[in-house]
Amino acid sequence: MTALPPLNQLLRELVAAPSVSSEHPAHDMGNLPVVHLLAEWLEGLGFAVEILPLPGRSDKANLIATLGRGPGGLVLAGHTDTVPFDDSGWDSEPFALTERDDRLHGLGICDMKGFLGLAVEAASAAAGQTLQQPLILLATADEESGMDGARALAAAGRPKARHAVIGEPTNLRPVRLHKGILMDSLHVHGHAGHSSRPDLGANAIRGMHQVLGAVMAHGDALARHSCGRGFAIDHPTINTGCIEGGDSANRIPAHCRLDVDLRFGPDDRIDALRSDLREAAAAGLTEPGCRFEASTLFDGIPAFETAAGTDIVRACEALTGHAAEAVDFATEGPFLNQLGMETVILGPGDIAVAHQPNESLPLDRIAPTQKLLRDLIARFCLAG
Ligand SMILES: [Zn+2]
Repeated sequence: MTALPPLNQLLRELVAAPSVSSEHPAHDMGNLPVVHLLAEWLEGLGFAVEILPLPGRSDKANLIATLGRGPGGLVLAGHTDTVPFDDSGWDSEPFALTERDDRLHGLGICDMKGFLGLAVEAASAAAGQTLQQPLILLATADEESGMDGARALAAAGRPKARHAVIGEPTNLRPVRLHKGILMDSLHVHGHAGHSSRPDLGANAIRGMHQVLGAVMAHGDALARHSCGRGFAIDHPTINTGCIEGGDSANRIPAHCRLDVDLRFGPDDRIDALRSDLREAAAAGLTEPGCRFEASTLFDGIPAFETAAGTDIVRACEALTGHAAEAVDFATEGPFLNQLGMETVILGPGDIAVAHQPNESLPLDRIAPTQKLLRDLIARFCLAG
């Protein structure tokens, strides 16, 4: 066993290792610098480390590190990537972990390299002991840009364990529910022409006006169906988030595009929601000469739900003193549940400071997280 560097150094090195992921190729980077750090530390602790490259991406990989054997056990999971950053908004260098105002600042320290460092440190405490059930550290790629890492794991059926905690920022409150998401682009194609002769063209913006009305009516209809889970907004929602069409006042616009985001509950299915949305949108279009087309903007992820009475939910509630909640943001939780794990989202950061300049983690979150992770490992790996 190699001695692990102190927590501060783990966090500093994780933040310093760039791993931005983005749907926009100009911002997108690999995550191997982070994966290799974790691999080195965990191998030093005696974990069996596997680095699983993402299909078609030699610069991106998931990492599974396992200590001990058995069908049960605990997965501590986190994503290695961060969102892109805007240099000008930061008061310190984003890749340099900086302490000020009783907080650690750095890109990803809240979401969620801070948890990864704490999980490695907790793993080092377990490494000297006899495990009754395995402890698995799971580090994923591309959570912030399509969840391709988690998709690849679900497709490969790895890893297998009974319980999982994903350390996304939840202010140390356990979460067992969130909505699912899908995103579509809806297009209306018309015919360009001189504005003085509308009869010779087909106005895609006029067509989109009809499609937009149909989408809004569809959203109203969806809102009459309760998710039945006590979400803050306990019904499916449609956001009409972006619209683009035409180029000048004196031309008939040939194209207009509307991007929508649809959020839904655990009883809804992505395929059915998507086809219903497209059908409703297409049915709205009656503008002569216009044609409707839909394309997938984001495949989507299912809603996440772990049953209230499960061992991991109860343990996390008891250890934090908070009843498990529902949140509004999405995680890799549905994929881990799909792999057969009972999963809770629970981490030290605050989602309110994630994805923005001066992202930070309060110093006083560190000790309670260390205790929480030690207790979870004792409960699910050390006890039989
Ligand atoms: Zn995150």
